[in-house]
Amino acid sequence: MLIPGHIDPVVTPRAITPRSDGRIDLMGLSHLQIRQLFEESQLDEKAAKLRSKQVFHWIYHRGVTDFESMTDISKTMRPWLADRFVIGRPEVVEAHVSSDGTRKWLLRTDDAQDYEMVFIPDADRGTLCISSQVGCTLNCRFCHTGTMRLVRNLTPGEIVGQVMLARDVLGEWPKGNMAFASADEDDDDDVGHYTADGRMLTNIVLMGMGEPLYNFDNVRDAMKIVMHGDGLGLSRRRITLSTSGVVPMMARAGEEINVNLAVSLHGVTKEVRDELVPLNRKYGIDELLRACAEYPGISNARRITFEYVMLKDKNDSDEDAHQLVSLIRQYKLPAKVNLIPFNPWPGADYECSDPERIKRFSSIVFEAGISAPVRTPRGRDIMAACGQLKSSSEKKSRAELDRLAEEKQVALG
Ligand code: SAH
Ligand code: SF4
Repeated sequence: MLIPGHIDPVVTPRAITPRSDGRIDLMGLSHLQIRQLFEESQLDEKAAKLRSKQVFHWIYHRGVTDFESMTDISKTMRPWLADRFVIGRPEVVEAHVSSDGTRKWLLRTDDAQDYEMVFIPDADRGTLCISSQVGCTLNCRFCHTGTMRLVRNLTPGEIVGQVMLARDVLGEWPKGNMAFASADEDDDDDVGHYTADGRMLTNIVLMGMGEPLYNFDNVRDAMKIVMHGDGLGLSRRRITLSTSGVVPMMARAGEEINVNLAVSLHGVTKEVRDELVPLNRKYGIDELLRACAEYPGISNARRITFEYVMLKDKNDSDEDAHQLVSLIRQYKLPAKVNLIPFNPWPGADYECSDPERIKRFSSIVFEAGISAPVRTPRGRDIMAACGQLKSSSEKKSRAELDRLAEEKQVALG
């Protein structure tokens, strides 16, 4: 049984594992790690420093997957690299496009674990929803991922590989001398928009499978590459990490990753949140909201997003909406609320609130001066909603679901 702990509850594959042919996949490795590997492969210090910088740029900034395309590396050096290293991508098992333009991919790791990624194009932005784990140790009762056993954490390569793959598919690697927007771009608005070079993929949300703060190191290392000016060059303001409330890791997330924070609240009383998000029994609402108030860098320009899934007769009353407002006020949180219509799945215990109820809930929160938009369901025809990833074929009986929930609860202590 895997025991979720404060920091990193599950076994993580080593980031640097040679493949069966002995070559090492450079995907997900930092500049320093690539440099160290080159030194271990007998390049002298000066050459390792220069070559690692060039290779890092080609891999992450240009998106190349073969050493032959690295034109500023000598023709004799390229086969030397190809003999020792590869630049991988996640294997695509299935790719779907919804009638509304949403795309979903089922991906497979080298050890045959499946995980999913979704791209949601909007008029003013394109959001990629990526996974951090295969399955999840937590067991939120309304979440389909919660019904799966955690298989393992994704490596930095598998996390950053999702973004790289999306850029491949969307054809969004820079060509010629096309300039990237700087990673430090100084736009204080948190509304995404097409960048000057017309890219579709403008935003990333860690809202796919898994709890990112239970795979902290790998998520951090992957996001560092995504944000690096010579890497994928995405501003931290365009990245949002969603947590179910792993309180002990929130301050570190703010210090070491410092992307936008989303918190899956879903309930405003102990009773309801204990049921919906069992982690609440370990880290309660007050503790969670205190950690939110202390999250580095929050301001009216950079608010915390509270996700709130709308469940009929469970958490959707006027009283719930008023309580939500008073909690946000009590902790003086610069906050916005994302109301998510529940996306049903086979065997789920809940129903989605009626549209009228959701509207009423939203207007109560809005009237208190807090933005509370209702998230439009996207890609329903391909089961693409974030938080409902992984194929629907894995149906479990109610008894199995309860047993799994119980096991995970015991593990939480
Ligand atoms: N583990 C993290 C991130 C992944 S879940 C977290 O819980 O925050 C991403 C979001 O999708 C969460 O807010 C989650 O509560 C929501 N979600 C999960 N299942 C859902 C469903 N069936 N319908 C609507 N939203 C769901
Ligand atoms: Fe895990 Fe998030 Fe689903 Fe909860 S909502 S089970 S934390 S993926």
